[in-house]
Amino acid sequence: MSLRNSKVQIKMNKIVRGLLLLIALSSMPALLLAEQSTAPAIAPALQPRGAAPDKPASGAASDGIAPADAVWRKALPRDPEQATRAYLARVSPEFRARSDAYFEGQNWLILWATLYGLVMAWLLLARGRWAKVSRWAERMTSRRFLSALIVGAVYVAAIWLLSLPLTIYQGFFREHEYGMATQAFGPWFGEQLIGLGVGLVLDSPAIALIYLILRRAGRQGWLWGALAGIAILAFVTLIEPVYIDPLFNTYKPLADGPVKEAILSLARANGIPTDKVYQFDASRQTTRVSANVSGLLGTISIRLNDNLLRISLPEIRAVMAHEMGHYVLNHVVKHLVYFGLLFTGGFAFMQFGYGAVARRWGSGWNLGDHADIAGLPLMAALLSVFLFVTTPLTNNVIRIAEIEADLFGLNAAREPDGFAETALKLGKYRKLVPGHIEELIFFDHPSGYRRIYSAMRWKAENPARE
Ligand SMILES: [Zn+2]
Repeated sequence: MSLRNSKVQIKMNKIVRGLLLLIALSSMPALLLAEQSTAPAIAPALQPRGAAPDKPASGAASDGIAPADAVWRKALPRDPEQATRAYLARVSPEFRARSDAYFEGQNWLILWATLYGLVMAWLLLARGRWAKVSRWAERMTSRRFLSALIVGAVYVAAIWLLSLPLTIYQGFFREHEYGMATQAFGPWFGEQLIGLGVGLVLDSPAIALIYLILRRAGRQGWLWGALAGIAILAFVTLIEPVYIDPLFNTYKPLADGPVKEAILSLARANGIPTDKVYQFDASRQTTRVSANVSGLLGTISIRLNDNLLRISLPEIRAVMAHEMGHYVLNHVVKHLVYFGLLFTGGFAFMQFGYGAVARRWGSGWNLGDHADIAGLPLMAALLSVFLFVTTPLTNNVIRIAEIEADLFGLNAAREPDGFAETALKLGKYRKLVPGHIEELIFFDHPSGYRRIYSAMRWKAENPARE
């Protein structure tokens, strides 16, 4: 699903991006942005440099993080709170201010994008515009699925075009402003076009399928629609690494050497049945780091981006053990269950909110009932409002899984300092020290403070393993 790599991180973007795709399919650029930002997903961003195993990895000094070495780590206080403070003290005030601004702006953008999406929906519905599109498609073919497919494709293209100004600001200019992006406008825009192509191929049939189900299911449409939604999400999650990701990046087997051997050793130790490790060239798009372990049966693979390869081996081990945690703890399946429940609520909200909104404001929209594809922009707008309001809930579900993967990773890699170092660098785009409530509402990953603290706590309880 396709958020492309605007976001970053170490994480499990798959699900979130899947959700986004589904939403994109139904609309709302806002939410897309959300995951890009979150991943939190899957959908990711560090700032590494020079490689060499066991090098302090803080080559990012120029970014506002003071370097540290083995001597510095040895002198760290045993007390987890004090050690965490020592890590955070390496970050310059300018770095913190920039990071806070980036992160907080991102949260505001979720709101602005949702509102922007509502305006787009209104533009498409007003004066019966969308009703005309759907009647036109119905005249082209008597096959209802085909005409819905046409309407879906027009919708995907229209939303892509209308949201382009926001996409360019958020995905290009803003990313450059904060030093995340490495791509010139031409190649970046080319990828947006590929994204449009992917949307046309995947989202149009998804829209047509959902409307087919809504028409047949009558009042139970919300339930069957949600089931279809989750099936589509699962399908896209499955095919994404193999068929979609390679449209944006080149994947090649990771060269033999200490990094590959360390990753495979972690995989063997944790029962991950694969010997396939790939690297991909994310550095041409972003400075963020990301990796994932995904696949089913014979397709299970470990993938990491080339930014990750530039940090120290302890950091790589810490990150990869976290990713393996998502796999071993079955987070994809658990998230599918969560999104199944969420979609059920979302489809019910769409179905039962549709009539109320159409009666109140839709006198000129020429809409039939909720199963009439002339109301697609309204259904998408309702879904976007539902997903916006439930964002804190979704953030918590995802963040809890991230905490689990963090703990798994600490135990598997036994690299508390590597993990803390990475968490510090991720502070480039995720606020390092938020308030407690702020973290509960806005964070889909633990904050830097929380992650470093959990690493230092682990370290204090495992003195022999330092
Ligand atoms: Zn994660």
